[in-house]
Amino acid sequence: MRRIAVLNQKGGVGKTTSTVNLAAALAAEGHRTLVLDLDPQAHATLHLGLLPGRSGPSLYDVLTQGMPLEEVRREVAPNLYICGSHIDLAGAELELINMVGRETILRDQLEADTESFDYVLMDCPPSLSILTLNALCAAKEVLIPLQAHFLALHGLSKLLETINLVARRVNRELRVAGVLLCLYDAGTRLGGEVIEDLDRFFDGRRSPPMPWSDAQVYRTRIRRNIRLAECPSFGQSIFQYAPSSRGAEDYASLAAELQGRQPASLWIGSGARAHG
Ligand code: ADP
Ligand code: MG
Repeated sequence: MRRIAVLNQKGGVGKTTSTVNLAAALAAEGHRTLVLDLDPQAHATLHLGLLPGRSGPSLYDVLTQGMPLEEVRREVAPNLYICGSHIDLAGAELELINMVGRETILRDQLEADTESFDYVLMDCPPSLSILTLNALCAAKEVLIPLQAHFLALHGLSKLLETINLVARRVNRELRVAGVLLCLYDAGTRLGGEVIEDLDRFFDGRRSPPMPWSDAQVYRTRIRRNIRLAECPSFGQSIFQYAPSSRGAEDYASLAAELQGRQPASLWIGSGARAHG
């Protein structure tokens, strides 16, 4: 089982888009995949076609009431499951303030889970809160989406420091797996500059300073694609909404890269439907 936290404390960088569409790509290839929506804004929940709150209990009940994950989990497509979010999660920080071991609730629940999954993808809120800490304790890998933007690297050191701290103190298995460039405008000078900056950033920090990281910049870059921005309002992944779009192509390619192989030609221009 691979457990991946999709994390960046900045908003609007592509966390939710990447969590949902990467999960859909993996599920469509037959991998049992679970999305955990830890953002009180519940965008991943909506993106996968559920109405937060109306679909029954949420991760709020898991984190604050000890409800097992299976009571919250919904199947939204073949092999694709989600434990949804709820706006009440925004209050979890305060509610959990006096609870001993509050940062490992999610990990303990995943370990007690009756079902097993090939991939668990965690969509984090844009903050370094108790919700994010739960994801970092439950995960083995962190995937950091970055917006290809001139301030993209701003805040990255702080994020890596936080991950390092969690890795040293509470989760020795945690690794930064890689950085994913999102909202990428191919062929622009800015796009090229961000990539050069990133390479320099990581070259200066590779082992020994970052032994807890195998950080790479994924070869796949998620290009700016209007279909990716449209599909959440239909409650569909990109593979349902626009299977032959560039967005579908990029997330299929990311799924392949994550699994360490060439992208399957299934998606590319085939118009094949992932599911549904
Ligand atoms: P985060 O979860 O980090 O806040 P989102 O995934 O919600 O970021 O993305 C922010 C906004 O940008 C959303 O409206 C989303 O639909 C849009 N978006 C994300 N990735 C792309 C892309 N590659 N092309 C076009 N729009 C995108
Ligand atoms: Mg989000």
